[in-house]
Amino acid sequence: NKFEQLGLNESLLMAIKDMGFENPSEVQEKAIPLLLDQDIDIVALAQTGTGKTAAFGFPLIQKIDAENKSTQALILSPTRELCLQITNEIKQYSKYVKGLHTVAVYGGASITEQAREVKRGAQIIVATPGRMQDMINRNLVNIKNIQFCILDEADEMLNMGFYEDITAILSDTPDEKKTWLFSATMPQEVARIAREFMTKPTEITV
Ligand code: AMP
Repeated sequence: NKFEQLGLNESLLMAIKDMGFENPSEVQEKAIPLLLDQDIDIVALAQTGTGKTAAFGFPLIQKIDAENKSTQALILSPTRELCLQITNEIKQYSKYVKGLHTVAVYGGASITEQAREVKRGAQIIVATPGRMQDMINRNLVNIKNIQFCILDEADEMLNMGFYEDITAILSDTPDEKKTWLFSATMPQEVARIAREFMTKPTEITV
């Protein structure tokens, strides 16, 4: 099993086995060892269906301190469906990590209930940009100490008009955090986010 050569810990390898993944996909092979080994920003050009959720999810789960209840990572994704899908995947990947909680934050559902879940302790928040910005404005969430921000399907988020929300959210995170941007294409607006909000990102293409 080639997953064992990527530097992943036992809880992740057990979850990978349960899910029946036999071999890492290309983006996983490129991103996982790099993200585990180095504290860097990355820009990854990868389509959906390439296994990108695990490419950022595995290293993220391994790097998070499950004993610390504060929010340590924010994953932004364009739609409610994707947000729920990523949350579901992260929960499966982290099933053997005691105390690690992931919460989905998206529009069209009760903000009060989502705020309650966040308050109970969510190290990972998976959110759509509009609802996330709303929660920040209402002081229902604190991302001032996050260590990781993942922008998933960045081109889609920008197509949907989330530029203002994304930049406002990023401005609310610490400068020291690491940003991992995933996008299928690299239009001007995505390049602009990378240029203005990321530090010398390493590029990965698949
Ligand atoms: P994604 O591109 O992250 O949306 O993943 C697409 C689908 O592939 C999801 O259902 C994953 O659970 C699955 N998947 C991810 N990585 C692997 C792998 N290495 N082997 C088999 N299936 C995978």
